[in-house]
Amino acid sequence: MSLDIETILCRAGYMNNYSYLLTDRETGISAIVDPSEAEPVIARCNELGHKPSYILNTHHHFDHTEANLEIKNYYQANVIGAEYDKNRIPGIDETVSDGQFWMLGKSKAEIIRVDGHTIGHILWYFPNDKALFTGDTLFNLCIGGLFEGSAEEMFSSLNKIKNLPGDTLFYPGHEYTLQSLPFALHLNLNNPILQNYITEAQKRLRRGLPAGPIALNTEKQCNPYLMAQTLTEFKQLLNRE
Ligand code: ZN
Ligand code: FE
Repeated sequence: MSLDIETILCRAGYMNNYSYLLTDRETGISAIVDPSEAEPVIARCNELGHKPSYILNTHHHFDHTEANLEIKNYYQANVIGAEYDKNRIPGIDETVSDGQFWMLGKSKAEIIRVDGHTIGHILWYFPNDKALFTGDTLFNLCIGGLFEGSAEEMFSSLNKIKNLPGDTLFYPGHEYTLQSLPFALHLNLNNPILQNYITEAQKRLRRGLPAGPIALNTEKQCNPYLMAQTLTEFKQLLNRE
């Protein structure tokens, strides 16, 4: 493990976005994933004495990019986003594409394109650190809505996630666990792994912590959208929401 990960709650109490402060331990170089609100991000960085050199975006939506310019100016940080989003991510300096590697100091990230929530949405995957930043593609027990992509595209994007190592921890773009609970439970009432997932998540949330991060292996056995084995099943699920 070469990466430290700090979760920062933004837009607390209404959108409950998560921004993340990533620090490469060896070099001390750091980055912010999806700065949706400047104040909590700057407060936490200053508290920890970090000056992020980069902003890493998963997709263009305002609740993931709205503080880009403020953070960029405050820290002189470079904004990195998908090539597809080059005209719609504020302050973008450098673009990345599917399959490309990108280095945060000595920590290696791989870019995985996941069309569905938006076209051109990307995941930031740090294979050596077993960390995956999923933006609005994968949440705890649910997935992001299809704003731009099709069910087919989302299904194949989720398959990319399912094919990553099961011990990878994922870090979503919002805290949606409690909202997603009833639907997941309704479909999967007698699943002991889900029962345990919920108990642990509720404990953590009550202590003011994020519900996650959760390992993909566990998520695959509890998240109804990852449990759908065929496109037909997946589409039926989308219609039942
Ligand atoms: Zn979004
Ligand atoms: Fe969002």
